Amino acid sequence: MLLEKERTEIVRFGRKMLAARLTSGTGGNLSICDRDAGLVAISPSGIEYEEMEPGDVPLVDLNGAAVDGPRKPSSELGFHLALYRQRPGIRAVVHTHSVYATTMACLHWEIPAVHYLVAFSGHKVPLAPYATFGSEELAARVVETIGDYNAVLLANHGLVTVGANLATAFAVAEEIELVAQIYYQAKCIGAPVIVPEGEMSRVIEKFASYGQKGNKD
Ligand code: 13P
Ligand code: ZN
Repeated sequence: MLLEKERTEIVRFGRKMLAARLTSGTGGNLSICDRDAGLVAISPSGIEYEEMEPGDVPLVDLNGAAVDGPRKPSSELGFHLALYRQRPGIRAVVHTHSVYATTMACLHWEIPAVHYLVAFSGHKVPLAPYATFGSEELAARVVETIGDYNAVLLANHGLVTVGANLATAFAVAEEIELVAQIYYQAKCIGAPVIVPEGEMSRVIEKFASYGQKGNKD
């Protein structure tokens, strides 16, 4: 099977997305871009994550033309492709309807640096204006809002994250959901104190070498 490893990853992370309660039902979608092949493996539209098999994951080229697989690609193919075109360094896109991030998106709030982990996105998580799901307008709003951030809220809809690989894009979605929950809770009982810009710059710099990055073993 063409891009079998990537298609298997889409299935595995789709199930993880559900298990981690980052989405429900058939909501959300995810993709991997093989830059060398110029192909994208994207979750099929409206298929239960538990029932999805690697053969259900469509392959398309960077213009959206079908390359392999019998299923219809995600209705959000437009913003996945637009992100790959705009950000040459990314190889994965994750879209969730996680509850706390979506709560912020329904208030039309950005997520500020209420906790240093917002660095998974950057200095904040910006908010893209509302547009109908699956529309060209939504794809345009996503790419113009995300800039160099790794996450963007979709007004009245959810969250989109990007990364150098699927595990990273998934981690961004998980950590931003945690920050959104903390922001919500802090707002419920007081006035959250925001981490200053300069300190966030330091955190973002430290993130570049966090964990095993750069370790030869
Ligand atoms: P798909 O099942 O078509 O990917 O749509 C889910 C979704 O979240 C739309 O925004
Ligand atoms: Zn959605």
